[in-house]
Amino acid sequence: MSRFPATSDRTFLESLIAAPSPVGYEAEGQKVWMGYLEGVADRVEQDSYGSAVARLDVNADVMTVMLEAHADEIGMVVQYISEKGFVYLNKLGGSDSTIARGKRAVVYSQKGKVFGVIGNTAIHLQDRKNGGAKQPEWKEIFLDIGAESREEALEMVQVGDPVTYLDGLEYLNEELVTGRALDNRMGGFAIAMAMKALRERRKELRVNVLALNSVQEEVGGFGARMMSYRHMPDAAIVTDVTHATDTPGIDQRQHGMVELGKGPSVQHGGANHPALVRHLEAAAKAAGVDVQHEATSVRTGTDTDSIFYQRSGIPSALVSLPLRYMHSPVEVASLRDLEGLVQLMTEAVLALEPDQEF
Ligand SMILES: [Zn+2]
Repeated sequence: MSRFPATSDRTFLESLIAAPSPVGYEAEGQKVWMGYLEGVADRVEQDSYGSAVARLDVNADVMTVMLEAHADEIGMVVQYISEKGFVYLNKLGGSDSTIARGKRAVVYSQKGKVFGVIGNTAIHLQDRKNGGAKQPEWKEIFLDIGAESREEALEMVQVGDPVTYLDGLEYLNEELVTGRALDNRMGGFAIAMAMKALRERRKELRVNVLALNSVQEEVGGFGARMMSYRHMPDAAIVTDVTHATDTPGIDQRQHGMVELGKGPSVQHGGANHPALVRHLEAAAKAAGVDVQHEATSVRTGTDTDSIFYQRSGIPSALVSLPLRYMHSPVEVASLRDLEGLVQLMTEAVLALEPDQEF
């Protein structure tokens, strides 16, 4: 079945997801991403906050299109260490406290990785009458790193160290993968694969291409804002994950219909420039890539919202990868959708005219 990605690129995908990149602490993930792009792009650069840019340049007289994804993942952070050595956590970005307990997690300290478990009071011992079964607040979530006192814990970790769950990439079958941080390492991988395809078809390329892997999306789209202001491309194709709504308990009347394996999703409305959206739809059709459709009511909730209004405006559009169980350590995505996303972005770039305006 799915031969995408090729074996050598699978290793890149696996290392990209294995590398921790919690929001505000993206250095490890960026190292992996830039390492791959250095073998593909003409130039790779990073700004002071860690957003990374890879370029394929044609010449200064033609338009520049940006492919964008975010590099950060949600996570947790060491908030407080109790006298008994328990490490209390707070969220980084939109982490869900309901699923935190009973998981293995890693603290990335100055001295290296510290492994721990997020304590879950045994079902027998829970005080249900006093709210033991309700959604916990983050202040109730603690990590047990095996320390017996605050002093001992402080020899291993400090307040402000980032934390992620332990999970890496696993294959459910030939097509479906699961893990933490598929939001949005899949996007970083997709723009890297598009750059690779464009590099291979360089003779057909008539516009400059800039791939941006931005930091700090999960707390407000800040990296994308800094870098799109700096580089001011003529158009931006943004990719992130979107909710697959094909699992039990989701009201499709409210959240729309997106299915796993039915192709990337084209977004309409809001920051999505109508002419660029039409360009993407035409490119999908020409390439034989099936797409799904989503309506943006107010905001896309992605870096697109940060990019489109920079300076006098950057025509932007979002194409998304369907994802089940977003912001959990068991996010699920389809490699077939991922392949379609890469093809769509590649063909959309190749179809741009050197002087194209939107
Ligand atoms: Zn995301």
